[in-house]
Amino acid sequence: MDIQNSIKEILSELPAGVKLVAVSKTKPVEDIRQAYEVGQRVFGENRPQEMAVKSRELPQDIEWHMIGQLQEKNVKYIAPFVRLIHSVDSLKLLQKIDREAEKNGRIIDCLLEFHIAEEMTKSGLSFEEARHILDSEEYAGLNHVRIVGVMGIATYTDNREQIRAEFHHLKQIFEKLEVLFFTDKSYFKEISMGMSEDYNIAVEEGATMVRIGSSIFGSRIYK
Ligand SMILES: *Cc1c(COP(=O)(O)O)cnc(C)c1O
Repeated sequence: MDIQNSIKEILSELPAGVKLVAVSKTKPVEDIRQAYEVGQRVFGENRPQEMAVKSRELPQDIEWHMIGQLQEKNVKYIAPFVRLIHSVDSLKLLQKIDREAEKNGRIIDCLLEFHIAEEMTKSGLSFEEARHILDSEEYAGLNHVRIVGVMGIATYTDNREQIRAEFHHLKQIFEKLEVLFFTDKSYFKEISMGMSEDYNIAVEEGATMVRIGSSIFGSRIYK
């Protein structure tokens, strides 16, 4: 698999305004460097320590996105440099990110992750849970995080219509939150959905960011 050609091909298909997050989890820095050489600057990782190590070894103009489940105790590894955290699924995590951002003199952009899949194993908030967070006094007191949109992962299935319905649902959640909590907040604009197998559907349903790993870097081997 040729990393550079895969990136060029995917970019040629994506409409302007849809950002490609190249998911480089488990892959070596040499692979990331290849992608970097054809202009890719946004990379997604799901392990905080792995992301921190890679960020030190690679050029500083890379935008690092945390896409995987994040434990509070690990926020400190990424707080100095992470550009966007896609996987915020609790008020406690948001509070922790806020504290670590403050220590670093930063404001960290976050997405609220929603549970849109049918599988119970997948993480994410319900609409009511998100509403509860955004209505809370605790949230109102946070000055070092900024919620810029939503994220979701569709069910792993061959049923394209089901995937489409789940992405459509996420878009509806985004629109409801925008009206209820983010009117006049032009930074609230991101919908992160779509992976290697389903990003075409996600784009049709309104994704502003797609997270693509194996179609760029090849399949992953987990140790
Ligand atoms: C691994 C991962 C991806 C990329 O998956 P591919 O199927 O390899 O494109 C996207 N989003 C999340 C949250 C992931 O964990």
